[in-house]
Amino acid sequence: MTSTLPENHNFKIFADNYFSSLPLLDELKKRRIWYVGTARLNKCSLPSEKELKKQERGSFDYRTDTISNNIAVSWIDNKAVTLFSSFASIEPINTVRRYDRKTRKYIMVKQPYIVQFYNKNMDGVDKLDMMCSFYKPNLKCLRWYVYIWAHTLLIALSNAWFLYRRDLKIICPTKKLMPLKKFQAAVASSLIAVVKSKAGRPSLDAIPLPTKRPAAVQSNPTKDIRLDGFDHLPTYSDKRQRCKKCKTGFSYICCKKCNVWLCLIKDRNCFYDYH
Ligand SMILES: [Zn+2]
Ligand SMILES: [Zn+2]
Repeated sequence: MTSTLPENHNFKIFADNYFSSLPLLDELKKRRIWYVGTARLNKCSLPSEKELKKQERGSFDYRTDTISNNIAVSWIDNKAVTLFSSFASIEPINTVRRYDRKTRKYIMVKQPYIVQFYNKNMDGVDKLDMMCSFYKPNLKCLRWYVYIWAHTLLIALSNAWFLYRRDLKIICPTKKLMPLKKFQAAVASSLIAVVKSKAGRPSLDAIPLPTKRPAAVQSNPTKDIRLDGFDHLPTYSDKRQRCKKCKTGFSYICCKKCNVWLCLIKDRNCFYDYH
């Protein structure tokens, strides 16, 4: 995932316990990429959560590797939080306000710098998790790897939406933002259409045998497909349909990719205007 990052630029990476491991910290350090991430307690020699919980809230324990300078910190809040880092440390120690259920009062709790720094910068990852959870595909499949594939796709899609939102703000700030749900649907429709319309001439074998033709229904292609400038070929249809562009004319000419009927006559080229 970091392979696209240029080396020696001192990038800092924030991640959750799915990724954190000490060998990873060393590997990234070779490329001058620095790391902070939550980790599982069993991955280091820190005391167990049970032992840590005997101490007061805000207490912490840590281990430092003197050779690599990596640090592992366990901090007690409601439960134990363990973090690995190749650059952040416990100092300076901050205090944060927390509600104490026992005394029903707000108390000040010590918080090492590494936790504060992680929380401050982890916003993006948490937000991504949240966005991914909104419109999850309803998969009913026994093969475990399908879920990983679907989740990878969902992460890519959510990240693409963040980029789209960023670019829209810069390029066209007055334009209304497309909500994530619509964005996901538009990308899906575009991908389906691309797969359906393969490039090149169809081979003779690929021409389907004549079957009973269903009633022609005009589709509503997404803007991405309509304006992609690829494979929009006019075909002559037996049925005359209302033009999708001018809405007043009727035409026999149909765009094969968009599955819409458009005027293509001497005075009016709705086919060109539409695309
Ligand atoms: Zn027309
Ligand atoms: Zn078209």
